[in-house]
Amino acid sequence: MTPLDTIRLYGTAPDSIVDGPGLRFAVFVQGCTHGCPGCHNPDSQPACGGAVRRIDELAAEIEANGLAQGVTISGGEPFEQAVACAELARRMRALGLNVWTYTGYRYEDLAALANRAAATGAVCAAHDTPAASARPSLPSVDPSGAEALLAATDVLVDGPFVQALHSFELPWRGSSNQRLIDVPATRTSGRIVLWDTHEDFPEKPASW
Ligand code: SF4
Repeated sequence: MTPLDTIRLYGTAPDSIVDGPGLRFAVFVQGCTHGCPGCHNPDSQPACGGAVRRIDELAAEIEANGLAQGVTISGGEPFEQAVACAELARRMRALGLNVWTYTGYRYEDLAALANRAAATGAVCAAHDTPAASARPSLPSVDPSGAEALLAATDVLVDGPFVQALHSFELPWRGSSNQRLIDVPATRTSGRIVLWDTHEDFPEKPASW
């Protein structure tokens, strides 16, 4: 996987209190193929919209913010810019910031894709795009990028937004099918470990 130095963004929110616990710098990427009815950000769906930013400049802006307790990567669909989002997440982790990533995909599908990429080394070296054999189910996701983004994510909020399951009572997510997954614990144990929100005050995962 060749790191990218740019990312296409729908926008940012440097002082979000709704995209995960605490005060967070939220980054909304541009482009999403899920097309969930009732999407909260329909303008973020076209892949060619938004604006291209240099990742090093965005990382410097977040570092200079100084107040953010964590970074949230949302969208749009972060895993459809997985290589770029992984690079941003890796840099945020290096600054000591926890990373929440939102996705319309399910963890199991992303992990399976990432595992296949790791097993086959299935990335086209000439174009840094996933080889066809490694992308049977998620054609818009770079497998090695998916692995890198999962590896740099503390909490994954997964699954599409389902209007029939929508509730304002759910912390950090729009519909009850979506899960808050403690990614390091899940990758270590090999089973889904949910992040413990403790309802009114979220506790940190042990990995933070
Ligand atoms: S995954 Fe998110 S951004 Fe994409 S269509 Fe669904 S709600 Fe909208």
